[in-house]
Amino acid sequence: MVSAVLNWSCTYFRVVREGNAVGTVKPSYFAEAILTLGNKPFSLAGRNYLRFVHDSIHPNIILRTGRQVEKSTTLAVHMLTRALLIPYFNALYVSPSSKQTRIFSSQKLNTFISGSKFIQQFYLDSSCVDRVFEKSFTNQSRIVLDYVYNTPDRVRGISADSVYVDEVQDIPKDFLPVIFETMSHSQYKWRLLAGTPKRYQNTIEYYWGLSSQTEYAIKCDSCGHWNILDERNVAKEGLVCSNCHSKLNLSNGQWVNTKRDFTFKGIRIPQLIVPWIKWKDIWEKHEEYSSAQFYNEVLGMPYEDAARPFTKGDLIAACENRPFLNGFDGQYFSGERLYLGIDYAPGGTMGDTAYTVVVIGGFVGDVFKVVYAKRYKGIESDLTDVAEDVVRLVKQFNVALVGADWGIGSGGTNQLLRKMLGSAERVVEFYHSGSQNALIKWDSQGYKFTLNRTDAMSTVMLKIKEKKITFPKWEYWEPFADDFLNIYQDYSEASRRIIYDHESTDDTFHALLFAYFVGLMEKGMLDKYFSKVV
Ligand SMILES: [Zn+2]
Repeated sequence: MVSAVLNWSCTYFRVVREGNAVGTVKPSYFAEAILTLGNKPFSLAGRNYLRFVHDSIHPNIILRTGRQVEKSTTLAVHMLTRALLIPYFNALYVSPSSKQTRIFSSQKLNTFISGSKFIQQFYLDSSCVDRVFEKSFTNQSRIVLDYVYNTPDRVRGISADSVYVDEVQDIPKDFLPVIFETMSHSQYKWRLLAGTPKRYQNTIEYYWGLSSQTEYAIKCDSCGHWNILDERNVAKEGLVCSNCHSKLNLSNGQWVNTKRDFTFKGIRIPQLIVPWIKWKDIWEKHEEYSSAQFYNEVLGMPYEDAARPFTKGDLIAACENRPFLNGFDGQYFSGERLYLGIDYAPGGTMGDTAYTVVVIGGFVGDVFKVVYAKRYKGIESDLTDVAEDVVRLVKQFNVALVGADWGIGSGGTNQLLRKMLGSAERVVEFYHSGSQNALIKWDSQGYKFTLNRTDAMSTVMLKIKEKKITFPKWEYWEPFADDFLNIYQDYSEASRRIIYDHESTDDTFHALLFAYFVGLMEKGMLDKYFSKVV
């Protein structure tokens, strides 16, 4: 058997056969020599920017890209070349969800492995592992594939030489150090992060901020202006100079670092420079997509100017000088009982990270004081365990009513809660409607209340700004504040109304909303017939 042993050495790998160096190879050319894609040899023709990614010796790389620019293919090729060229090499692939990892494993990695005669002949035998979440080769290298939905706990204990984090914009920032820790014993410690920007600041922007922010700059033949590509370069007739509107020649470009000090080599790949994307399609997207979508998915840039209903200042102003409570405080809430709101984390939503959150509060006069909040993480997030914990909190905090999210809780967890609390009435289910005009309605068939989502959310936002909803001291409340700051306001053309959407998690906000509304209803502060908060 040919032992294709290759060693890492600067920008190329030294090919060693039976102890003798017989040549050198760069990973990108190695990939083109051995891989096929759709019955044709894998080729990087016309996409030198990808060769740069494959052959870079920088240990940390971040790709900030538009959609459909071969991001996943690039990750697959990068990890395969390293695993094949370096014996005993362990690569770890991580995405935000099981589904994304499965798709990557079967559609990208498997396609390359099964389509390559070279790999089949020299790198595989019956001793090799070929599973969705693990691949191994005869050179003792391994690729492990995993995901970090809701918690990074799954990857703890894995030992890796390089990590590939895909769709990094959907992974909470505090998961990344846990993923990187898998390389603590490695001599390589290579990191490749890839993702498409979203509307607001998130993980990808954080790491992009640490990067060289390398851009493809094109010099204009007419006026000499160097263009770093953005929306101003997009015209119906094609790619134009942002200064003089002359047509730009893609081949007049070069990669330039726009930052001098960096720990990551960061490369932005907009659809504008991808040779096989037709200009007609880009122009259509320019005309049809929202600005935010065009920035994110075509330009590979974040889009920042959508309105946010909250500022950090609003939330700090609504904090009072008091700690979280551990249980009911009779002096505080004399003659009152408290209300508990619960928002469940959706299961299996691709790329969406969410937690089950509980918020507890009660009225002092007409002010709703939040006294407790909890985010269920990792092993705590099992919904049966959550239900048991809620029952404990109901007793501990003298809770009168539980306001719960209808969607996921309906039938399952809410039913379980009713049983454990020994009362159907104590769990009030809410459903957010996007089309209902009234603020709140009773749905007798579904045995739940339906809320006008936008109006209910606006009500809670207003009450926070009026300090009719208050929080404990900022230092205690801050860990939950992002769930409020992630909410943004948009205008829906279809329904001709303001809608709220969220970037990353907003679960604490909805848990508060359910606690507040169930409290308003019991206190008679919500006029069910006129649908107003009085
Ligand atoms: Zn010009």
